[in-house]
Amino acid sequence: MKPHKQIKDWGMGLTAPLIIAGPCSAETPEQIGQICKEMKEANVVPHLFRAGIWKPRTRPGSFEGVGEEGLKWMEIVRHHLNIPITVEVGNASHAELALKHKVDVLWIGARTTVNPFAVQEIAEVLRGVDIPVMIKNPMNPDLELWMGALERMYAVGIDKLAAIHRGFSDEYDKRYRNKPNWSMPIHLKREWTGMEVINDPSHIVGRRDGLLEVAQSAMNFGLDGLMIETHHDPDKAWSDAKQQVTPARLKEMISSVDFKTPLENMKPDEKLQDLRRAVDHMDDQLLDILQERFAAIDQIGAHKREHHLTVFQSDRWKEVMESRTRKGVAKHLSEKFMKELLYCIHEESVKRQEKQLREAEPIKK
Ligand code: PEP
Ligand code: MN
Repeated sequence: MKPHKQIKDWGMGLTAPLIIAGPCSAETPEQIGQICKEMKEANVVPHLFRAGIWKPRTRPGSFEGVGEEGLKWMEIVRHHLNIPITVEVGNASHAELALKHKVDVLWIGARTTVNPFAVQEIAEVLRGVDIPVMIKNPMNPDLELWMGALERMYAVGIDKLAAIHRGFSDEYDKRYRNKPNWSMPIHLKREWTGMEVINDPSHIVGRRDGLLEVAQSAMNFGLDGLMIETHHDPDKAWSDAKQQVTPARLKEMISSVDFKTPLENMKPDEKLQDLRRAVDHMDDQLLDILQERFAAIDQIGAHKREHHLTVFQSDRWKEVMESRTRKGVAKHLSEKFMKELLYCIHEESVKRQEKQLREAEPIKK
C-alpha cells in the first residue's frame, strides 16, 4: 500500500486521537448555533465538527437532510468555534456542493461505501482536489469493500485518508444498532500501514447508555479517535434522537475515557517483554502439538483408505465437539471460541484426509 498522509499531516493542526462531534443532522441555523454555544460553555470543543446535510435513510419518509442550505450554516461553526467542518457525501453532486462551500473534510457513509459505483463517482469529482476523506465501514463486514473505497480515493490523488468503524448491521444482535467487529479495523490497520481508524460509538450502540463502554473499547484496541453525535436537545433531534448526547455529557465522556498510549510508539517494558517471550514459547508448543495431531490424523486417513471408509463420521464429530467444548468451558475458554477452534481444526483434518484419498494410488484388490 502506498504511503498516505495521516491526520497530523492533513495541514489543519489536527492530531490523533481525533475527536469529532456535532449533530447527526444539521436542522436549523439556531440548532447549529446552540450546539456550538453549549460546546464552548462546557469547554468541550472537538477537533472537527460533524453534521449530516444529506441523510441516507434506510426507508423513505423520514428526515432526509436540509441539503445545500445547511452548508451555509457551517459558517456559524467557524464563527463560534473556529474548527474545521466535516459532512457526509453520498453522490457526485453532494461532493461538488461540499467543495463549492469549502467544507474542510468529507466522509463517506456506510450505505455509500457498499456501492463502488457511487464511491467512484465521488472520487471522480475529487480527482486532483486536496481534501481529506474519511471512509466509514460498509454496512456488512467486508474488509475488501472498505479498503476498496479507500483505494478509489487514493487512486484519484486523495492522500489524506482515514477510516471510521461504525459497526455492522446484524439483525439478530439486539445489544447494538450496528455490532462492532474489532478485528476488522485492526485488520485494516495491518493491511494498510499507518491507516488511522476513528470509532463511531453513536451508530454502533444506537442509544446513549453504552457509548462510553464502546468508546473505551475502541481506545483499548488502539483506534485513533472518536466520532460522537452531539445535540443540544437530543430527544428532539430530527434524526438519531436516541443516541445523541448533550455537549455537557460529551465533556463527561471525553474526560472519563482513558486514552491509551499506542504501543506502536514505545518500547515495551521488561514485564511486557517477558510475558511476550512466554507466549512465544507457548505458541511453539502449540504448533508442535498441532503437528503431532495432524500426523495422527494422517495415519487415521491411511487407515480409512485401506478399509474403504468415508472420511467424515458424524457421531464421532459430534462427540469430539461436545466433549472438547465442555472441557474448554471448564478451563474458562468461551463456548464460541471452543466451537470455532474445533471447527477450524476439524475442517483441516477432513481436508487432509480427503486429499489423501484423492491422491493415493488406487488400492490393488
Ligand atoms: C451518520 O453519521 O449520521 C450516518 C448516517 O452514519 P452511517 O453512515 O454510519 O450510518
Ligand atoms: Mn446519525
